[in-house]
Amino acid sequence: MKIVLASANQGKIKEFKTLLPSHEIVTYKELLGDIEIVEDKDSFKGNAIKKAQSIYDLLKDENAIVISDDSGITVPAINNEPGIYSARYARNNASDKENNEKLISKLNEKNLEKTEAFYTACIAIVYKSEVYTVHGWMHGNVINRQLGEGGFGYDPMFIPNNYDKTLGQLPYEVKKSFSHRTKALNLALKVLDTIL
Ligand code: IMP
Repeated sequence: MKIVLASANQGKIKEFKTLLPSHEIVTYKELLGDIEIVEDKDSFKGNAIKKAQSIYDLLKDENAIVISDDSGITVPAINNEPGIYSARYARNNASDKENNEKLISKLNEKNLEKTEAFYTACIAIVYKSEVYTVHGWMHGNVINRQLGEGGFGYDPMFIPNNYDKTLGQLPYEVKKSFSHRTKALNLALKVLDTIL
């Protein structure tokens, strides 16, 4: 089954391909080239729907299966930042390094070496003009340092519950076993089984 992924984020594309080994994943860029989708909704769900729906409409193929992921990290001790702004926390088109440095400076402003945080992933599926959404979460703590080279985004700052290392230091298999994206994708697969 061929699934069009409505994301240009290399970290996510890699994870989707690993998490869905029996499906052919094609990115929207391979089919449509560069397109800018403005993420102007006020929730992960709103932005996930907008991304999947925009690509579905552009493909003009009723039978296309389009899947999107809108995700981010929320830190309650700093007013739930960066949340839906995770990808552009430092500025539009910021690098992971710039976003991580901004989060570190926000934690340092409040003298927080380590504080509770959680990742959210909302996955939207559009198929035959119908929209389906599911969510997954991963809880843990963020620290005011970056440790390890693994994962992407905020992973070098995030220590999942029941571990003492960051996702940058832990093998990907650990993240894969309980990540927000894994949980949402497992639900998304059930939706696909039902609708296809
Ligand atoms: P989106 O592409 O607009 O959904 O932005 C997602 C952003 O959230 C990414 O650029 C990362 O900064 C962050 N993010 C989401 N999922 C993860 C993850 O699994 N690890 C690390 N950072 C993540």
